[in-house]
Amino acid sequence: MGKLITGIHHVTAIAGDAQKNLEFYAGILGTRLVKKTINFDGPDVYHLYYGDEMGRPGSIMTFFPYKGLQRGRHGKGMLNTTTFSVPLASLDYWLTRLKKFGIAHKEPEERFQNEVVVYFEDTDGLGIELVFNNKDARPGYSNGIIPAEQAIKGFYNVEIWEEGYERTAGLLTEQLDHVLIAEKGNRFRFAAQDTPGNYVDIICSPDSLRGLGGSGTVHHIAFSTPARAEQEDIRKKVLERQLNPTPVLDRKYFTSIYFREPGGVLFEIATAGPGFSVDESQEHLGEALQLPPQFEPKRSQLEQTLAPIGIDLANYL
Ligand code: ZN
Repeated sequence: MGKLITGIHHVTAIAGDAQKNLEFYAGILGTRLVKKTINFDGPDVYHLYYGDEMGRPGSIMTFFPYKGLQRGRHGKGMLNTTTFSVPLASLDYWLTRLKKFGIAHKEPEERFQNEVVVYFEDTDGLGIELVFNNKDARPGYSNGIIPAEQAIKGFYNVEIWEEGYERTAGLLTEQLDHVLIAEKGNRFRFAAQDTPGNYVDIICSPDSLRGLGGSGTVHHIAFSTPARAEQEDIRKKVLERQLNPTPVLDRKYFTSIYFREPGGVLFEIATAGPGFSVDESQEHLGEALQLPPQFEPKRSQLEQTLAPIGIDLANYL
């Protein structure tokens, strides 16, 4: 039997202002807005998806922006840092770019061998890193503003802080097809496949405060499963571990189940397809507000509630 989980699908976070969010991710980082839709569970806010050219699993960062929402707090029981992969030789380019746009960052540091990381935060305080490495064969996406040889290729890893790592590690390795591939100090790196975009680092941090939800915090992480049949099999395995998964929910671009892992982080299992070109062409991804059929009758009302957002990429060269 093939693997039921192939790696990371997406990371979803809570933001404050939608316009600032767009400027940070599409403008400064140069990822592509691949879908502008609404929160299917609360349609008065956007759901913005950024990724590579097609929004492939392993590159998709998504946000629910709630204007004026109080900031949350990073801490244990939370995914605190999402790390994007860039070429090793692009370090000077990115340090110059962060400075140009006034983004404060920590000094570059080596993590594992041939991995140099730079930590900074988005406009809401969400933890972001760039990892400079030569391990990533994906092409990267420039959004027309970043030179191709410097562009973000997708995620590299995520960082989850836990009281203790064993129970989460047990779930990852016994039910979710991950293996431990590296460890250093209190960092334990798991992956369903040993390629950039799929590394899940568990940080054992018993002394930190518990994380609190709010803007600038991650809502959930989704792992990728090939299709519905594998999703059903994973759901059974999660049920056997008594983690109470939701029924399969139709998210239009994939189907999903959700459950909370033992340390408190919300996990989702999402199918790899059908993907973001189900309702607009590849060329025009992210341009128009897309609604699932159940909200289409409310379109004009929703368009009045949601403040328009837009970006002139020429300002981000
Ligand atoms: Zn999700």
